[in-house]
Amino acid sequence: MKIFAIGRNYAEHAKELGNEVPSEPVIFMKPDTALLELGDDFRYPEFSQEIHYELEVVLHVSKHGRNISRESAREYFDAVTVGIDFTARDLQAKCKAKGLPWEISKSFDGSAAVGQFVQVPESPEYDFTLLKNGTLCQAGNTRDMLNDCESLIHAISRYFTLNPGDLIFTGTPSGVGPVAVGDVFEGFLADQSLLKCAIL
Ligand code: ZN
Repeated sequence: MKIFAIGRNYAEHAKELGNEVPSEPVIFMKPDTALLELGDDFRYPEFSQEIHYELEVVLHVSKHGRNISRESAREYFDAVTVGIDFTARDLQAKCKAKGLPWEISKSFDGSAAVGQFVQVPESPEYDFTLLKNGTLCQAGNTRDMLNDCESLIHAISRYFTLNPGDLIFTGTPSGVGPVAVGDVFEGFLADQSLLKCAIL
């Protein structure tokens, strides 16, 4: 099982960027040991002082394929949920400054929290939100993706064979922020609560 993730897939101001030609998606990966399964809590790692939450829509890949066209990409995922791409922002900043790969900041154990998968909504535009200790802390809508789900599958499959069970974190909208020990996060897709995760 592979976990793909996409960097910078939402413009900060959707209207300003609505007419821009989408740039190439930024693709990175997390190993299967990054998966934080439904019901598991997140353990704050000792190597970081600045873990951030990034709420994202996550696709469940249902079919084997490579070099998938954008037109047929919808056949390759059968469920969606929300997930949290936990990021060690302090380590990431150091890696970026030195031009180094950022895996230690993005792909460590437990960094990919995944909610309960549900049917793909009929409309490709849906809200997703994150509550921190019961208060809204991040909200997005898939219409604001620079590269939509089909485009992401097309782009990823140019380089990587997709297999059933692979997951795709589709990028985070603005509003990311720090997590602290004791916080409890709850993620929603539209009005469905699909993810609960405490920080230990
Ligand atoms: Zn992310």
